Amino acid sequence: MKENNPHLHAAMQAVATACHVTRAVQERLQEVTALTKDDRSPVTVADYAAQAIVALTLHDLLGNPADHLIVGEEDAAGLAGDDSKIVRQAVVETVQHWRSGITEEQVLEAIDSCNHDGSADAYWTLDPVDGTKGFLRGQQYAIALGRIEDGRVVNGVMGCPALPISQDAPLDVPDPDGVLYAAALGEGAWEFSGCDPEAGPLRIGARAGQGGRPWRFCGSVEKAHSNRNDTDRVADEVGNVGEPVRLDSQCKYAMVARGQADGYLRLPTRAGYVEKIWDHAAGSIIATEGGALVSDIHGRPLDFGCGGLLERNRGVICATPDVHASIIDAIRTLGIDAESAS
Ligand code: AMP
Ligand code: MG
Repeated sequence: MKENNPHLHAAMQAVATACHVTRAVQERLQEVTALTKDDRSPVTVADYAAQAIVALTLHDLLGNPADHLIVGEEDAAGLAGDDSKIVRQAVVETVQHWRSGITEEQVLEAIDSCNHDGSADAYWTLDPVDGTKGFLRGQQYAIALGRIEDGRVVNGVMGCPALPISQDAPLDVPDPDGVLYAAALGEGAWEFSGCDPEAGPLRIGARAGQGGRPWRFCGSVEKAHSNRNDTDRVADEVGNVGEPVRLDSQCKYAMVARGQADGYLRLPTRAGYVEKIWDHAAGSIIATEGGALVSDIHGRPLDFGCGGLLERNRGVICATPDVHASIIDAIRTLGIDAESAS
């Protein structure tokens, strides 16, 4: 797997280090919040520091400059000026813990190096802290890094620092060890306990068959990110669907990929919202390589060939093949695809 795939190897190292970074920030959550008097500061610090670490690691491990193009969620403009001084210092100090001697200028440069627009044939896309609300609540979040080549995701790595590897453990209690996921196109998907790329890789796979139990769907905690009313209508139409599991971030893709849920529904809440590539690149390849199907609400494959946005898609449905077909049928029958065509 990663032995003969330098991109995947580098991505795993980068994301694993970023998992340590976000955890360290989480431990200082109250301290940072007290300094800045702003509840959102810890996530800002974690976002920027993780983005810098991923950019620096890819840069170290991959020689070719064309291999470091990154479409990242953050840019350092938000850290400029006196108002941001405390946050900027916290970001720099955090990065310095893993890179001793690095200067503020170099940290800001690393953050800004993730400003590619997605126009090249090959690039990475990074969400340094996906599920920011989950991060702040002390629940699920992910560090998601995907590699796109010719409009397709070819490698995906996702660090889930608070996700228990045991599928019997409660999801709303943050796990101290977490899990790392990796997938390569046509090769499969794996999980690594403790967010440790050196741990033995465990092959993961989506659930096969229903076996008399109700289907299990997962969705966003945030009501604004996926339409709950439409999700309930779809569940009624599909039939025999249990209570939904709600969790933040692309961990939802991992839930389907590792057979803990049968579907992940992301139904549009408003006309005009266009999904971002960094919210789906890593998660979607982990799910498809685990044997699930990923499409938009019309059943179209996600098209990663339009720059930073999934402009040709609307919403996301990720599910095992049987369930996927039933969900798309239900969406059509209920006219949800027509309601949100835009
Ligand atoms: P989740 O944790 O699955 O709820 O998704 C978090 C992601 O939702 C964030 O990274 C945002 O980019 C994205 N997001 C923000 N607004 C919306 C919206 N109106 N619809 C769908 N996704 C959104
Ligand atoms: Mg995100």
